[in-house]
Amino acid sequence: MPVTYAELRRKLEEMQVELRTQLDDMQREVREDSVGYGNHMADVGTEVFEQELDWGLARHLETSFERVKTAEAKFEDGTYGICESCGERIELARLEAMPETPYCLDCQTRLEHRR
Ligand SMILES: [Zn+2]
Repeated sequence: MPVTYAELRRKLEEMQVELRTQLDDMQREVREDSVGYGNHMADVGTEVFEQELDWGLARHLETSFERVKTAEAKFEDGTYGICESCGERIELARLEAMPETPYCLDCQTRLEHRR
């Protein structure tokens, strides 16, 4: 049975909650890390490396969160599932695998090649 838009919307809502939780956890960790700073002087190299990794992940999470939020908002104005680039409907199978995508497969491929 093909996926319905109502199911996709619920999926997006779940993704949003999940990402929000992960971002909150990460922000809490960063605060705790800076409090305990004095105890780890011997291992500064590793700490800096780990912090850079965290920032990369945090940026990734924030980008995903924004994409999910934008996609979910499209249900409100009735443009969900329509490619932002060419205006065609995005295949349901693609939306099921990637509900937050703003582009159809053709446009996504074209945009990636241009980069
Ligand atoms: Zn398109």
